[in-house]
Amino acid sequence: MNVYSYRCPSCGYQSKHMIGTPDMDQTMTDVNTEFAQYRLFVCKKEQKFVHADILDSQFDGKCPSDTSELEEVQPLEVKCPRCGKDLEITEIKPLATADSATE
Ligand SMILES: [Zn+2]
Ligand SMILES: [Zn+2]
Repeated sequence: MNVYSYRCPSCGYQSKHMIGTPDMDQTMTDVNTEFAQYRLFVCKKEQKFVHADILDSQFDGKCPSDTSELEEVQPLEVKCPRCGKDLEITEIKPLATADSATE
């Protein structure tokens, strides 16, 4: 699983999302996360990114907060959900974040 950090230089939009499958060799407090698969979506109503576990039986392709239809996007090919400009995308490896969180 990777963490993607997004920042829009144009409008200041900022967001961070976990995408992918949780690493099996990591100790997770919630056993169910082994069967999770997070994907990145855009909520057009709120104009923001939403990540969702597509293997979650409660997930039906709708935004959890306003039940509007979500659009799936590729984590590295997305534009700003607010203004449509290019984003600065930083890929954070989960294992590396523990020691270098101060950067
Ligand atoms: Zn923007
Ligand atoms: Zn929404």
